[in-house]
Amino acid sequence: MNQNKSVQIFVTGGTFDKDYNFITGELYFKDTHLHDMLEVGRSTLPVDIKTLMMVDSLEMTEADRGIIEHNCRKSTYENIVITHGTDTMTETGKYLKKAQIDGKTIVLTGAMIPYAFGSSSDGFFNLGSALAFAQVLNPGVYICMNGQYWDTDNAVKNRSTGFFQIKG
Ligand code: ASP
Repeated sequence: MNQNKSVQIFVTGGTFDKDYNFITGELYFKDTHLHDMLEVGRSTLPVDIKTLMMVDSLEMTEADRGIIEHNCRKSTYENIVITHGTDTMTETGKYLKKAQIDGKTIVLTGAMIPYAFGSSSDGFFNLGSALAFAQVLNPGVYICMNGQYWDTDNAVKNRSTGFFQIKG
């Protein structure tokens, strides 16, 4: 197994990267927390972080998905993690799968609770899992949430439980 992996990380927004305005009680986008998270997590994995957009995935357009596809295709990395809103993560996954980007392992992840909320957030755990899965899975497009991974076609967000699961 290749022990010298490095990972491209594309940031697209989602609750994962939302900040909290304690005065107004609103969630909003500022900068990505990725750099912070990797430092706090004491990661030594070589990564290249690029922010493509900072959007709530409910507002993501086909043009946005085209930008994500283009960047995955032109990335020189074989292992890619995309941070993404959970609401339409599987749609983007399907879009990328259909685009047939050969030879790349693409893992989409996100969070139900903003990293900015501290230890109650699932963002840290999901990011760590996604980085690990991106290094070991065969080329393809995957969803990684709640400590598990699925081929993007097989994953669904259960809107009642708030967990991702296999499509039944
Ligand atoms: N509405 C948010 C999004 O999909 C929800 C989330 O990220 O969990 O961007």
